[in-house]
Amino acid sequence: MFSVAGKVAWIDLSNKTVILESTESYKNFIGGRGVGSYLVFKEVPERAHPLSPENIITFNTGPLTGTLSPSSGRINISTKNVATQGISFANAGGYFGPEMKYAGFDHLIIQGKAEKPVYLFIHDNIIDIKSAENIWGKDVWETEELIKEELSDEKIRVAAIGQAGENLVTMACIMFDRSRASGWGGCGAVMGSKNLKAVVVRGKGYLELYNPESFMDYNSRIWERILNTDTIRLFHEYGNLGTSGAGGIFGNLAQSVRNMEDEIWEAEKTLKMREIIFKEKYEERKLADFCCPINCSRFYHIKEGKFSGHKLEALKTNVYRAFGTNIDLSSREYILLANEMADRYGMNCDSLSAVVAWAIDVYQRGLIDEEITGGLDLQWGDGDLQLKLFDIIAFRRGFGDILAQGVCRASQKIGRGTEKYAMHVKGHGICEQGIRSHKGWALGIMTSPIGGGHLAGAPNTEQRRLSPELGMHYFGVPTAGEPTVYEGKGKLVAWFDKYKAIADIAGVCLFATYWMDISFIGPNDFAELISDATGEKINGKDLLELGEKVVNIEKAFNTLHAGFTRKDDRPPYKLTEIPISSGEFAGERLLPDKWEKMLDEYYDSHNWDIKTGLQTHECLENIGLHDIKNRIEKLGKLPSQEVNCCKKVTNQ
Ligand code: SF4
Repeated sequence: MFSVAGKVAWIDLSNKTVILESTESYKNFIGGRGVGSYLVFKEVPERAHPLSPENIITFNTGPLTGTLSPSSGRINISTKNVATQGISFANAGGYFGPEMKYAGFDHLIIQGKAEKPVYLFIHDNIIDIKSAENIWGKDVWETEELIKEELSDEKIRVAAIGQAGENLVTMACIMFDRSRASGWGGCGAVMGSKNLKAVVVRGKGYLELYNPESFMDYNSRIWERILNTDTIRLFHEYGNLGTSGAGGIFGNLAQSVRNMEDEIWEAEKTLKMREIIFKEKYEERKLADFCCPINCSRFYHIKEGKFSGHKLEALKTNVYRAFGTNIDLSSREYILLANEMADRYGMNCDSLSAVVAWAIDVYQRGLIDEEITGGLDLQWGDGDLQLKLFDIIAFRRGFGDILAQGVCRASQKIGRGTEKYAMHVKGHGICEQGIRSHKGWALGIMTSPIGGGHLAGAPNTEQRRLSPELGMHYFGVPTAGEPTVYEGKGKLVAWFDKYKAIADIAGVCLFATYWMDISFIGPNDFAELISDATGEKINGKDLLELGEKVVNIEKAFNTLHAGFTRKDDRPPYKLTEIPISSGEFAGERLLPDKWEKMLDEYYDSHNWDIKTGLQTHECLENIGLHDIKNRIEKLGKLPSQEVNCCKKVTNQ
């Protein structure tokens, strides 16, 4: 096999055993999220709690990971989702993915639970299970330093959990190379539940490509295309904030404001957050992940004031929203500090913001009081309070123990009408912008199999105002670039569901794809690169079909493990009832009747049952998932033939 390391490792922490298998066994799913979702579906029984030894956590590289194709440093993590009980997948950048392949492994499947804290050291085809007792209790940054010291190797790549993962906090994530998060689904807590503090890789191997000349020829043309766009110029100038940041250089862009109550932040606050201020005041250098032409990250140094001396990699747009606008906090330094604390403790910014903003919101509405908060006076825009809340959440102290369960469960536990203000999808906290006005974007977030987030089917075409001609040409949807139009968005999101799965399968960052700019990597480009790299001839249509198959495996997992149906694809109260206050999209909200029609179109595009939102016999048979069809059918979770007939009538 080409462009792969060739080995898959099954690591059982309970028995301290490692079994090797050939990567060839999984070639039908190519790699990355495709293999990860398949393994989680196949290996995790329905009765398994996400934090039990029966759950598995998988580390997956793709066929392009570690090659010279653009932004090809991704590592996918798939497991059972702590917040939703359904599927979880997320990927991170940095250098870990390529290093894992150079160390000899394409996929790691970690199961069981170690008796005492351990970390895995994977180096040149060897896997050592080492004691982590001396680093348990340390934060992510300290952990990386201590392991480097212990192994006397500065070049190792570390994926670690912080105290949040150790304490099984629902929002815990895995941090790679200190600051690159695999954030969704509580995967850090899954590692913590296995007493697994870190996975460390170091490899001196290399990848052999099937046709390196052809690969490099095609690859250099893609690099040229990417580098020759306005999108890339914004990234290079201002980093991640450059494309959808504070709005300083674009005007007043949508944000998530005060627990997503609104999407327009007051102008005087927005102006303090302009991209150019971060650049001039804090930027020390630009940073990029492995082989990335985009360079979306920055290294900041706070040189004066209360937090003088702090240095960190920052600031992603979603972090700015999560720890700034959604908390109504307009202090740049406090936002940067919150970024650092979340990285060190290992907590996902979106779901952390969801629970912190909800707590302030319901306190301000008088639904909870200081008796519940443990004496904390929860006010908007209080930077010290935010840091204090991070602290008590990560260590599950007092009120923090309730918040550590995530916004959905915390609101259910407290009750008192606070559930209405919990911003979550399928039980997973969210923090998003433009979600009332951009209908396709909203649909992609609500139907995401991992419980919200914009990394599944949410398209970017509305933000980019794609012309009707281009919308028609690329997606068969002339309204693809019209934010407030509902029609066509079901079809558009279904297309992006499968397309974004391809990027995750290949091991490429979504910023380097069509999702960000239609001059970037499209399905046919992926097919050319994968064919040249692996020697397995494939075209863009085949890849989209594989994407559809993977999306269906994830959907089936959710049906069996979490029981999600159509009702779970609807937006929370605030988005349907509280309109945007001002600006270009003043008055916009998600209208329930139009939402239902958009859902119909979405299910129909996937060939799912319109009435229930579940998969159908026909759909699963057509894409060759016979075993999965039988398993769902046996449990009575496939709509009856009668319902399918109704669907056909409805569609005519
Ligand atoms: S675009 Fe940003 S997140 Fe994506 S690979 Fe490049 S540096 Fe990493």
